[in-house]
Amino acid sequence: ILSAGCTTNNSVKVGIESNFRPFTYTEAGEGKGFEVELWQAIAEKANLKYELIPMEYRELNEAVKSGKVDLAIAGMTINNARKEKFAFSDPYFQTGLVILTASDNEMIKTEDDLAGKVVATRLGSTAYTYTGDIKGIKEIRGFPSITEAYDQLKDKKVDAVVFDERNAHDFIQKSGDGKVKIVGEMLNKESYGVVSKKRNQYIGRVNLGIEAVVKDGTYAALYKKWFGS
Ligand code: GLN
Repeated sequence: ILSAGCTTNNSVKVGIESNFRPFTYTEAGEGKGFEVELWQAIAEKANLKYELIPMEYRELNEAVKSGKVDLAIAGMTINNARKEKFAFSDPYFQTGLVILTASDNEMIKTEDDLAGKVVATRLGSTAYTYTGDIKGIKEIRGFPSITEAYDQLKDKKVDAVVFDERNAHDFIQKSGDGKVKIVGEMLNKESYGVVSKKRNQYIGRVNLGIEAVVKDGTYAALYKKWFGS
């Protein structure tokens, strides 16, 4: 008997994101990144057959809600607002938001310096909400793709970007061309979790999988591979 959200071949549909390096991204249609490899290890421990479904960030929430995917692993920050609508696994990554600005910008060093400035970030992200709460920002430009926000900063069309630290770092290293820097400390603390519908049959097993990959050293090895220490 099939209930809504179940698949006939018993394989779990897992949504990933096409542009959130180095966690999840696609190259030639194939899912890559720390989270893709972490998920593979978790699924092995949890004995879950799965199929990865790459999609845009803005499609993820709806896909989880509608059952198009059973789970998503896509740098999803766990917070109370989201917990009202979704179920999250235990956290598997600690991080936070940072401010990026032009390499030659000496004015912006902290959150307070964003007053009167134009800031770009990703629509629907925790950074978008966070930035909306900073007092005195002149304008917030939200883009579906974070790459667009970074490119605006590179072209000096905005004064700053606020976004997830590791993704920002990856952009600066790979595509920043020396034009962009991260300033100051992390603005907050965020943790990523695997997300699912409130009523679901997977999160319990995913948590056991997370526990197992941490315990046997797989997590540490993957962390070292993708983040270097
Ligand atoms: N961590 C951020 C959030 O949850 C960004 C995630 C992402 O862009 N994939 O909104």
